[in-house]
Amino acid sequence: MAVEKESSVLLLFTGGTISMSEDPSTGALRPIDFDRLQEYMPEIKQTGIRVKSVPFLPLIDSSDVDPSAWERMAMLIEENYEDFDGFVVLHGTDTMAYSASALSFMLENLSKPVIFTGAQLPIGMMRSDAKENLLTAIEIASAKENGQPIVPEVCIFFEDTLFRGNRTTKKNAEHFSAFNSYNYPPLAKAGVHIKYFRSSIHYPAAGTKLRVRTHIDQNIAILKLFPGITEHTVNAILQIPGLKAVVLESFGAGNAPRKTWFHNALKDATDRGILIVNKSQCSTGSVEMGRYETSLNLMSAGVMSGYDCTTEAIVTKLMYLLGECDSQDAIKHQLSVSMCGEMTGS
Ligand code: ASP
Repeated sequence: MAVEKESSVLLLFTGGTISMSEDPSTGALRPIDFDRLQEYMPEIKQTGIRVKSVPFLPLIDSSDVDPSAWERMAMLIEENYEDFDGFVVLHGTDTMAYSASALSFMLENLSKPVIFTGAQLPIGMMRSDAKENLLTAIEIASAKENGQPIVPEVCIFFEDTLFRGNRTTKKNAEHFSAFNSYNYPPLAKAGVHIKYFRSSIHYPAAGTKLRVRTHIDQNIAILKLFPGITEHTVNAILQIPGLKAVVLESFGAGNAPRKTWFHNALKDATDRGILIVNKSQCSTGSVEMGRYETSLNLMSAGVMSGYDCTTEAIVTKLMYLLGECDSQDAIKHQLSVSMCGEMTGS
């Protein structure tokens, strides 16, 4: 195995089920004290890897994560970038795919591993998946070959699989295998050995320097179509004051109703400068605008393709681009290309 002596990992502890116990009065899971949590993890010392933990206090359920938490994670990684071989982010599973996607855009020219993980059962419980996930994530974050990190990407490690973070979606609230990457192969599989699939891993160009970008614009919405959606509902979303972009969750290969009012509502929104990105409600496959007549309408209304991106990746990419880019042309260009492996492309 490629873990070298003196490896070091910074553990950003944000919360999630991994850090929770049952509240005796309500029976609901809630985060416990960070100090108590550390008592459950003596194995970290036995890895031979120098692990420093930074808790985000108070620890939170990931449903409470917002862009300010992403900024904090990104800044901590930047401040500690030279001192550690890699980073592990312990995070609730519910919004982990959003945070991993956001960080993939915010950490430009990343050349070290940032591995998100968590657990489906709290770390203190008998059958918890926490320790295995955490210990393997630490090993992956510190893994090197010829002195170079093996996985210099923002990833999610869960159960036995390492995924590219911005390709991942939470798929299961019950099983230990909680995530999948429907449109991109895994980056590694952990069994007796950790097997890395190097041809799927992105390696940055030599000599590039980490640049952390933290401007995020939250003025976006998701419009999920369903048969029978009313003009009133569509307009209520497209008329939100200050709205700058919409993720349109369409049917199949990117199709939508051909009704005149629907086309007019979208066209009116794009004419007002609102970006609309087409994302299929299917998990696997890509938007193919123009394949069916039911998507020609979208093209003529100025809707852009989201190709095979996840909703999590499009939402965070839009927030990032709206915060960082000066012009709509620049945003449109970036939406049509893969910035850090988030889509297979046109
Ligand atoms: N509600 C928890 C969270 O996302 C679920 C988990 O961690 O698995 O914080």
